[in-house]
Amino acid sequence: ERVVSQSAYAEDDAAENSIRPLDFSQYIGQKKVKDNLEVFIEAAKMREESLDHVLLYGPPGLGKTTLAMIIAGEMGVHIRTTSGPAIERPGDLAAVLTALEPGDVLFIDEIHRLPRSVEEVLYPAMEDFCIDIIIGKESTARSVRLDLPPFTLIGATTRAGMLSSPLRDRFGVHARLEYYEEEDLSRIVTRSGDMMGVAVEDDAAREMARRSRGTPRVANRLLRRVRDFAQVKGTDRISLNEADSALENLHVDKLGLDDIDHQLLNTIITTFRGGPVGVEAVAAAIGEEANTLEDVYEPYLMQIGFLVRTPRGRMVTPHVYEHLHLEVPGRE
Ligand code: ATP
Repeated sequence: ERVVSQSAYAEDDAAENSIRPLDFSQYIGQKKVKDNLEVFIEAAKMREESLDHVLLYGPPGLGKTTLAMIIAGEMGVHIRTTSGPAIERPGDLAAVLTALEPGDVLFIDEIHRLPRSVEEVLYPAMEDFCIDIIIGKESTARSVRLDLPPFTLIGATTRAGMLSSPLRDRFGVHARLEYYEEEDLSRIVTRSGDMMGVAVEDDAAREMARRSRGTPRVANRLLRRVRDFAQVKGTDRISLNEADSALENLHVDKLGLDDIDHQLLNTIITTFRGGPVGVEAVAAAIGEEANTLEDVYEPYLMQIGFLVRTPRGRMVTPHVYEHLHLEVPGRE
């Protein structure tokens, strides 16, 4: 199993749901986003209106789904969850929209993957709370306007840039989630440990936080695997030593990079002489999907300054050579 993999396994999904923060007080970090949302929510409640549509964007696993659930909870409304690829036809979206109750939150994950024809139904729904549906066939077909209850659309995407601008512009609130600080991740590990019934010593929590790529979902997954090692050793307490040796067994290095990151970096260095190289070529060379590299691996490697994107492709930086204990080329 890949520890930093974002495609969760059913078992991990269930475990993830049981430790999901339920309100803003439990949602650690992301202070800017949280503070703003709290104001918007309070104001909407004072006006007794539905909350304006919210676009959440940022790398996977930072808590977009969690935040959407918290927003619905704080507004005191139901949340319906779906995703871009799941809504194939305009009729699918119409069915979802007409089933909403006043004030409800509709959460669409991966909203950048909505088909164009569906997106067009969404515009009047977001703007005027209505949809036009076609009734009848061919010569008798006519368009009927249906009113919808006021609702809040929360869209989540890893790629705000892939959203069409008419869609992007219809969101009143744009919230960008950032990679978490070590301090916050460390608190997340401690909290999750408490909820799972394991005591994580402070320095162990910090070490796991450091190796979690700024991502709560990764932190929780590392914690579960470290707990497995501790459990087999017959302890319910995780010390720094335990954390260290478990992480080493999992091939997660000091910066949180795993085998695939290493393969990616090594391939660019050896096969492509450090770049620049297109993401498709790297993906083919290591047998991964280009999309996965772009969504899951590259953002963090760019964040830590290991990879840069140039018009001609990706390039590794001298930091990579140092981290991998390789000679930096041209620096004899
Ligand atoms: P995706 O975009 O792939 O759906 P996501 O960004 O929506 O990912 P979530 O599923 O919301 O990510 O979060 C992953 C897990 O991380 C949650 O189950 C939760 O336990 C934990 N988590 C996320 N954000 C926080 C936070 N701020 N504080 C504590 N735990 C968090």
